[in-house]
Amino acid sequence: MTAIAPINPGTLQLAASFLRKGGLVAMPTETVYGLACDASNPDAVARLYAAKGRPQFNPLIAHVASFEMAQAEAVFSEAALALARNFWPGPLTLVLPVAQTGTVCDLARSGLDTIAIRMPAHPGARSLIAGFGRPVVAPSANRSGHISPTLADHVKADLDGKVDLILDGGPCTQGIESTIVSLVGDRPALLRAGAVETSVLESFLGEPLARAGEEDDISAPGQLKSHYAPNAHLRLNADAPEAGEAWLGFGPDTFGGTNLSPNGNLAEAAANLFAMLRKLDTDSDRIAVAHIPDEGLGEAINDRLARAAHRE
Ligand code: AMP
Ligand code: MG
Repeated sequence: MTAIAPINPGTLQLAASFLRKGGLVAMPTETVYGLACDASNPDAVARLYAAKGRPQFNPLIAHVASFEMAQAEAVFSEAALALARNFWPGPLTLVLPVAQTGTVCDLARSGLDTIAIRMPAHPGARSLIAGFGRPVVAPSANRSGHISPTLADHVKADLDGKVDLILDGGPCTQGIESTIVSLVGDRPALLRAGAVETSVLESFLGEPLARAGEEDDISAPGQLKSHYAPNAHLRLNADAPEAGEAWLGFGPDTFGGTNLSPNGNLAEAAANLFAMLRKLDTDSDRIAVAHIPDEGLGEAINDRLARAAHRE
């Protein structure tokens, strides 16, 4: 049995002591709950992969509590610094060359000479990392391939007994993973659509982001086609539910099912997405999902839905 604990000075200290011993602690972030361990400790990282049941050792995102911590791990170009100053703390992950002073172990980086790094906005996550004093890696705190957790209870449902402690920070406000931008190629490239809208980044940078697949040197290791997968069969872009299907709506409708956002608000839909998928998945084996516009946060929502619907 893994305990779920509210965040306070005592539980933060306990969590940091687990991290120091190579343990695993689930922590809230503004995106989804992360499964944190000492990024410099390969045994801890191996334990983390095992707990998640990851099919392969894809590289993980290092989470930091300060700019100083970030700059010890990664080499920041001017563009990288500008992005970090503007979007951190927050749900933007930067892929940068690894610094010589870096402490994040090879296993956590899959042996790459680059590092994915971000400073989370959730104060509980930053307090934990600051108290621990070093970066943690923190992939989503779910069994590999399952739906990402946006509540402490979701973590317990997937990882009970496999992690040392679950810190409860309430529901995740963004509900969808960070946007990943690589700054190691010729042009800034979008590796994963996420909680920071692509168009916001593009107008900040003053140029369009290259996309994975456009150029040979752009790769997003570990971006599996099938991911976030419920057991239920998903039918996307549906106009209406068919007999036997549970309905996941978006915008006003008269079907009376679950609705991501009756007002058609994409931020609300992102925050609700994973929790509603989990709920519908326990009640039904077929889910029809309404059309979600592919603009703004809709890009990240549609990316996650496509992976949730994909069958190998
Ligand atoms: P998550 O599962 O949310 O922790 O996201 C990890 C993702 O970050 C991986 O699936 C990769 O796509 C991406 N990533 C991490 N490190 C790197 C890197 N050095 N280069 C490119 N992508 C990376
Ligand atoms: Mg995940």
